[in-house]
Amino acid sequence: MRNFIIAGNWKLHKNNSEAKQLANQIKIRTTDIQRTDILVCPPFTALSVVNDIVAGSRVGLGAQNIFWEEQGAFTAEVSGDMIKSTGAGYVIIGHSERRLYFNETDETVNKRLKAALSVGLKPIVCVGETLEQREAGQAFDVIGKQINGAFSGLASADMAETIVAYEPVWAIGTGKTATPQQAQEVHVFIRGQIAENFGMEVANALRIQYGGSVKEQNARELLSQPDIDGALVGGACLKAETFVPIIQIAESLS
Ligand code: PEP
Repeated sequence: MRNFIIAGNWKLHKNNSEAKQLANQIKIRTTDIQRTDILVCPPFTALSVVNDIVAGSRVGLGAQNIFWEEQGAFTAEVSGDMIKSTGAGYVIIGHSERRLYFNETDETVNKRLKAALSVGLKPIVCVGETLEQREAGQAFDVIGKQINGAFSGLASADMAETIVAYEPVWAIGTGKTATPQQAQEVHVFIRGQIAENFGMEVANALRIQYGGSVKEQNARELLSQPDIDGALVGGACLKAETFVPIIQIAESLS
């Protein structure tokens, strides 16, 4: 049996009343889901109100970022303990938009990852190459570096708590999707890197999501690949009508 994880990254969308409405619609429409893990990742401001709605349901809650310090004079930053206190159990780390617009590096990804694990949040670590890097034949080098940087100094037990999302930057929000074969090939590579560093058992159990213009129309083909264990969804997660069908497809394949 496959245990997919379908996550929605709400990015900079949804005020609190919109967030409550969307969370409620997703919850109501997924009551028959039994094997697939569902996750919504609203902005920090909506974490608590969304938790009030999804707590006790199959819909899990995640944040979109975390700061590595526990507390102090770091205006506007949010710690792991603060995130946990909203009821969230997951956190996205190193999304390509954070890397592109907010100077996220492999080193800061590693610090955030350790901060998340130290408070028991499950991290979703994003990696992926740009179009230029893919066209220059550098995709595997780039992803290998991102993986080694992100997971540097991690214990195998911590790696076992971690999820990886492969998100080719050229496929995010562009309507372009990696072909299932392209995605599968990178997922196999990532699993191999994890096996080298943390052993086969951890690598085989690792869930690797694909992200990049996932929608109802391409989800079945992508999720049918043996090494694609879920999806990280942007655009299509902002409406229950477009997000829930992806969850249902995962359920039907599990
Ligand atoms: C994302 O931002 O993680 C993402 C995959 O976005 P989209 O589905 O819109 O490409």
